[in-house]
Amino acid sequence: MNEIYLDHAATTNMSKEALQAMLPYLFEEFGNPSGKYSLGRRAQKGLEQARVQIADTLNCQPENIIFTSGGTESDNMAVNTAVHKKKSGHLLCSAIEHPAMKNMLRFLKEKGFDVEFIPCDENGIVTPEEVKKMLKPDTIFVSVMAANNEIGTIQPIREIAMICRERNIYFHTDAVQAYGHIKLDASEIPIDMLSASAHKFGGPKGIGFLYVSNHIECVPMLFGGGQEGGMRSGTENVASIVGMGKAAEVSCKSMEKNSIYEQSLRDYMIERIENEIPYARLNGSKTRRLSNNINMSFSYVEGKSLVSMLDMVGICCSGGSACSTHKKAPSEVLTAIGLSEQLANSAIRMTLSAHNTMDEMNYTLYHLKNSIKILRERNPAYQRFIYYNRRR
Ligand code: PLP
Repeated sequence: MNEIYLDHAATTNMSKEALQAMLPYLFEEFGNPSGKYSLGRRAQKGLEQARVQIADTLNCQPENIIFTSGGTESDNMAVNTAVHKKKSGHLLCSAIEHPAMKNMLRFLKEKGFDVEFIPCDENGIVTPEEVKKMLKPDTIFVSVMAANNEIGTIQPIREIAMICRERNIYFHTDAVQAYGHIKLDASEIPIDMLSASAHKFGGPKGIGFLYVSNHIECVPMLFGGGQEGGMRSGTENVASIVGMGKAAEVSCKSMEKNSIYEQSLRDYMIERIENEIPYARLNGSKTRRLSNNINMSFSYVEGKSLVSMLDMVGICCSGGSACSTHKKAPSEVLTAIGLSEQLANSAIRMTLSAHNTMDEMNYTLYHLKNSIKILRERNPAYQRFIYYNRRR
């Protein structure tokens, strides 16, 4: 049985182009970029080419890009840059940020910083008005993600960035889910720092970058041999960086075409689910949404059980986000948009790519309907609900 992969927000398969670009650097071009001989210089050239490839996609200079180990490190580094030299102050991020941001801020709260989470509306949007309302005279840092990892909602980061720039507040955006899906132009949006992670856009795992604008003095978290201009010490992961550069180029070039295709699959799925499965609900805005994201709650169904049943027929999707699968508590994102614990726990997320086909959608719909029917039949609360509804 071929597996149907519908969990591209958790990770993507590597693009062939990225793999091809990496291979030489894993074998014959194995030099340390710090080496003062041709082999080292060639590795260094590979790094710099990747930096240019990424900078081109964001319309910034290569010097604005610092290579990191991924989204988590980039998010942590952005916060660290903002709070460096401070012992207190007000830090804000949205209530629907990834744990890489929220948990870093919770850590700083224990150290004495004033930390608050900006609520979103019922559509999963963080409005500029809400951000403005929450600012204090001592606000140092604001982080609002470009697109959410669970419900795919696209945030008005340009307006929020402008509010922060006017007040000289650091503005960071976590673009881990948005990069390669929506256009991000650092020359048009006054972003101070932006995080991305290669494995979300067809690159290898364990590598990412932080964009840092010219007027920001980035602060390192790792100290050592002074690589990345002293901002991120440690011998560079050359092959992965080269793979990330190629994946960035490929994914941004095909972004528009892929988005149109993914959106057609997404909308087909949502429409059929809404028409054919009773008591289903789309979580998050229908319009301000990543082209590949479907997140729906099915009343009287446990999301976890549904994911397991779909797995048995070869469909890979997730309940909430991959990062929250170790937690028992309901998704913080779904409760932030106002879902009850029950509805939040009945959600599943399917995230598509241009590799998915209409046949896969139809196969998934068939098994989704079947599995939901079986799970509801086994649920006494659903049986009671149907019984009383019939009598009324
Ligand atoms: N931020 C967001 C929005 C994410 O979705 C993820 C991963 O799922 C991360 C950060 C963490 O990225 P990484 O796994 O590369 O550390």
